[in-house]
Amino acid sequence: MKKNNHKINFINHIINKDFEKNKKIKVRTRFPPEPNGYLHLGHAKSICLNFGIAKYYNGTCNLRLDDTNPEKENKNYVESIKNDVKWLGFKWHGKEHYASEYFNKIYQYAIELIKKGLAYVDRMSKKEIKIHRGTLNTKGKNSIYRTQSVKENLFLFKQMRKGRFKEGSMCLRAKINMSSSYIIMRDPVLYRIKFVRHHKTEKKWCIFPMYDFTHCISDAIEKITHSLCTLEFENNRRLYNWILKNININFYPKQYEFSKLNLEYNILSKRKIKKIIEKKIIKGWDDPRIMTIIGLKRRGYTASSIREFCNRIGVSKKNNLIEICALEACISEELNKNANRIMAILNPIKIIIENLHEGYKENILLKNHPKNINMGTRKAIFSKEIYIDKKDFCENSHPGYKRLSLGKEVRLRYAYIIKATKVEKDNKGNIKNIFCVCDLNTLGKNPTDRKIKGVIHWISALNAIKAKFNLYNYLFLIKNPELEKNFLNFINPKSLVIQYGLIEKWSKKIKPGSNYQFEREGYFSADYKEFTNKNLVFNRIIKLNR
Ligand code: ATP
Ligand code: MG
Repeated sequence: MKKNNHKINFINHIINKDFEKNKKIKVRTRFPPEPNGYLHLGHAKSICLNFGIAKYYNGTCNLRLDDTNPEKENKNYVESIKNDVKWLGFKWHGKEHYASEYFNKIYQYAIELIKKGLAYVDRMSKKEIKIHRGTLNTKGKNSIYRTQSVKENLFLFKQMRKGRFKEGSMCLRAKINMSSSYIIMRDPVLYRIKFVRHHKTEKKWCIFPMYDFTHCISDAIEKITHSLCTLEFENNRRLYNWILKNININFYPKQYEFSKLNLEYNILSKRKIKKIIEKKIIKGWDDPRIMTIIGLKRRGYTASSIREFCNRIGVSKKNNLIEICALEACISEELNKNANRIMAILNPIKIIIENLHEGYKENILLKNHPKNINMGTRKAIFSKEIYIDKKDFCENSHPGYKRLSLGKEVRLRYAYIIKATKVEKDNKGNIKNIFCVCDLNTLGKNPTDRKIKGVIHWISALNAIKAKFNLYNYLFLIKNPELEKNFLNFINPKSLVIQYGLIEKWSKKIKPGSNYQFEREGYFSADYKEFTNKNLVFNRIIKLNR
């Protein structure tokens, strides 16, 4: 069963069961990014899931900026996140929310826990707390401040809020169980001191709630029914439920975990992407080699191809590495159907057609799409001097070679059959020009006396304009760089190869950001940032015949 092109997953089974118990549920989900970087393809998976589930059940999905780490967050990231979600084609319910909107309420819940004897102010350092917490094999040890009176705790916490203590000198911890087999339950920190200006609350607060304390309360305030997060939060679910059970709140969202997206030859982690940018390996968050949403967009991926990818990979609880060809197939299937074709020569070499006179000029019609006649035709010029790609010529042919070589014939796409007669070389032995003869009886028809196997693309010298081609390859040399501590050692030195070549003249009118198939080469996008009618810059999305 498919509705709104949403592929059923295990979350659907859970919600369907919830509906069996209560037909009136109003499904509410949320997408909760931290504004500490740009969104990437992993986030797209979470966005498609959260918005997809909400839509499927006629519910709603909130956008909530999870802004509790002021030193790493800023307004630019907030704006980029909003733009990316919109660009992907989703509309959140009402205004966007911020965890920081709830700081007053969260603070009150902390006071409530202290009053109930369920939270205390600890004066141990971060390091001591860590040592006391124990390991999977050893129990934790109680802090000596654990038995402090409620009165003392309330006093200290309020003083903390007033900025009376230094950063790191104390924190608020939940009083749960230092010998729990779940380390997360060993008196987790709920609040810490930070004298950092916050992008929204500015200098109002110098104490900030931790993720675990913030998240469940924000979900409950927004009446989120199904709080979907990635598997690494599985253990945190215990704390999520413990907090909601112990505070006076009247809504109980449920958390469910799914596996993160991992993609071959790529890393999907804001922290690591930041590192790659800092090391100047790529040019920024929108570099077409990185799997951020804006990087993918600049590369030429469409929102629909990204949504299709997320739908195809599905959602489960199993961690796996998705093949890069799964992503490439989504854009290539889409563009194969609807991208106009163009002739572009990435690595040009000149052909001189001996049996055409100087000034010969014939208009030739090229199809914009080989199968879809509704996409129309365009005019090209056929003339004495044309360009083909260097890789389509080989002086001495070998068996099975189907392109141009001395003494052999090949068809120029949508034009004539030509035969190479000789080459002219420079003093270093490099081919400068190729001389050919053209069979003028072969426009739109095949000769009856012989079979011509090869078809190559070409542009007349009268119809060519210079262009820059950014040829992108995988950013990493290995399939799973996420597993490598020193992932920077595995960067592909050829992740970007720049080539200057030729393209049909009319291309200067192309709209920046639009996608084309360069015949026999691949799908390319006119770089929406750099492309102008004087500076034609194209990004290769993917090669043909991968
Ligand atoms: P990163 O490690 O890149 O910073 P994050 O999980 O810390 O990722 P958040 O901004 O906190 O980033 O994530 C917002 C939402 O997106 C969360 O619900 C998170 O689980 C989800 N998410 C992040 N990365 C992935 C991924 N690779 N696959 C699926 N969902 C993801
Ligand atoms: Mg994070």
